[in-house]
Amino acid sequence: MKICIIVPCFNEEDNITPFYDVLKSTVEKYNHQILFVNDGSTDKTLERIKGLAKMDSCIHFLSFSRNFGHQNALKAGYDYADADCVICIDADLQQPPSVIDQLIQKWQEGYEVVYTIRIDGNDVSPLKKITALLFYKFLNYISKIELKANAADFRLIDRKVLKAVKSFNEQNIFFRGLIAWVGFKQFGLEYKVEQRLHGKSKYPFRKMLSLSLSGVTSFSISPLRVASVIGFCFSGLSFVYGFYALYLHLYTQHTIPGWTSMIMSFLFITGLQFIMMGIIGEYLGKGLMEAKGRPNYLISEDSFSERTPFTEVR
Ligand code: UDP
Ligand code: MG
Repeated sequence: MKICIIVPCFNEEDNITPFYDVLKSTVEKYNHQILFVNDGSTDKTLERIKGLAKMDSCIHFLSFSRNFGHQNALKAGYDYADADCVICIDADLQQPPSVIDQLIQKWQEGYEVVYTIRIDGNDVSPLKKITALLFYKFLNYISKIELKANAADFRLIDRKVLKAVKSFNEQNIFFRGLIAWVGFKQFGLEYKVEQRLHGKSKYPFRKMLSLSLSGVTSFSISPLRVASVIGFCFSGLSFVYGFYALYLHLYTQHTIPGWTSMIMSFLFITGLQFIMMGIIGEYLGKGLMEAKGRPNYLISEDSFSERTPFTEVR
């Protein structure tokens, strides 16, 4: 059996070598390959990877022409991987490589997807914990997939699942959702998040928000329906109000329309329209991006040309 470990890296120069040492001590007992995906790092990450690749023939790497994002780095890894099972793990040692043994054990018991669930330490900010929890609750509520709260991108997939994953050609990929969506025999394993070894998180709030939006809009069109339902309700209400105004005008003396209620309903409905336009725009934008059919990433350099490649390179 052959195991491939995919490691997305973005500006992780100080982490690569210590990470590799720990990883290697765990995986050397298996027939393994380590595939580093350098996601357009601007520091010495690629040099470090190349240095390791000179020493260790199990190492392969792909290097993007610029930063395409964590999910696209995973996509590239999956596209190039050819092994009986594939494991994705971050380069910052927050996901302890020792858990890999448990992933493999579960796989050998017959599970085709072994995903992991983070147990956050105290260093994770309450804001991140709360937003993550709300996001998973919301996503599960409006979509048909069932995603475990705090699922991580640290997971093992079997060759069968890899084949399915390679066939996905969507932009704005959200792997946690996709993996929940594909089915197969799945097992969820908990692990305790460690402190990041060096450097800062590469997921600022902006990127988190973008990933969440992409998660929601990839798996559900309910927000669009919510917009139409609200739209209908308000049209109905304004109809009723219209009749009421007409009644006042025809049968009572109170014909001077209240400026306050006018301006309030005007503002409220305008606001609502903007929300709806926003939601529609979100899907429209997504449709546009998909229609362009651009590749998810561009590779400027890789180790496959100079080494015996994995048998199947797309
Ligand atoms: N990463 C990447 N591209 C990006 C952002 C992050 O390849 O644009 C990598 C990063 O180097 C790390 C992993 O994805 O190996 C997870 O990122 P990070 O540790 O910053 O996220 P966090 O653990 O804070 O959620
Ligand atoms: Mg991390």
